[in-house]
Amino acid sequence: AKTEERNALRFYTPKMHADARRRLKLASELRQALLRNEFQLAYQPSIEMKSGRIVAVEALIRWRHPERGNVGPDEFIPIAESLGLIRQIDQWVLATACRQLMQWDEARLPPLRLAVNVSAGSFGHPDFLQGISQALESTGIPPKRLLVELTESAILRLGEDTQRAMQSLHKLGVAVAIDDFGTGYSSLAYLKLPAVEYLKIDRSFVTGLPGNPNDVAITEAMVAIARSLGLHTIAEGIETEAQHEFLLRAGCQEGQGFLYSRPLPPDEVARLLAPKTTG
Ligand code: C2E
Ligand code: CA
Ligand code: CA
Ligand code: CA
Repeated sequence: AKTEERNALRFYTPKMHADARRRLKLASELRQALLRNEFQLAYQPSIEMKSGRIVAVEALIRWRHPERGNVGPDEFIPIAESLGLIRQIDQWVLATACRQLMQWDEARLPPLRLAVNVSAGSFGHPDFLQGISQALESTGIPPKRLLVELTESAILRLGEDTQRAMQSLHKLGVAVAIDDFGTGYSSLAYLKLPAVEYLKIDRSFVTGLPGNPNDVAITEAMVAIARSLGLHTIAEGIETEAQHEFLLRAGCQEGQGFLYSRPLPPDEVARLLAPKTTG
């Protein structure tokens, strides 16, 4: 065991160094990325389970790094959060996505709902609400068509600021979705907040459907809670027909996942939804 431990140490140390170096490098490059226009948004369609119709899109940020290629948000968002850069990034996402929605409206696409992801560090801050009102005002998008996605773990970290931000959003008429629902360690008290109108069932539960009895039980319970509270449910990470069938029968209203569509660049969303010309 002793030698194994030593070997393990020798084995992992260079990798840990490399990871730490990469994070440091990314941190300094992140500061430049906004200025250099290296961020883009991809939009993942969300479909109404019953009809298969696309009713919404979720904006997902992409970083096209000049040398490294694509860096995923799961890697750089936590770095941006720890550097205090997340507020600027989330504002950019909000403004860019709202402008995009306006362009789709102008191109006469069916009126989609737009979801944006917001980090805890942005949500509680007064600038965030101002950014929302400004984006709505300058684009003329009705507040009902904007959805703010906040992870369950972010809500738990927020405390008093949450309540205030939630109330202000609700006054504006913008709804909140609880993202990654079921993965936090939570009292369910925040489900009563008037702004909270959507629950997103995390992919970790969807993956096990319909074979895993625990995931079946948990998913059914989540849909039941949502229904009795009058909340709208959206399942994430649907990859198979069988998962779709199960969730449809369970009473889940909406779904996202590679089964329907991957996140797409804006022009592909437009192509997918443009009114069909006959002839
Ligand atoms: P999320 O909000 O839970 O987004 C869903 C993630 O699952 C996306 O990864 C999406 O591409 C992926 N996904 C969708 N359908 C499937 C599927 O069927 N199978 C599998 N395996 N994956 C699927 P992505 O784009 O890499 O985003 C990762 C996370 O980064 C997001 O998780 C979100 O928490 C965060 N994020 C993304 N964009 C933003 C942003 O603009 N602002 C902030 N603050 N966070 C963001
Ligand atoms: Ca999300
Ligand atoms: Ca999610
Ligand atoms: Ca997730």
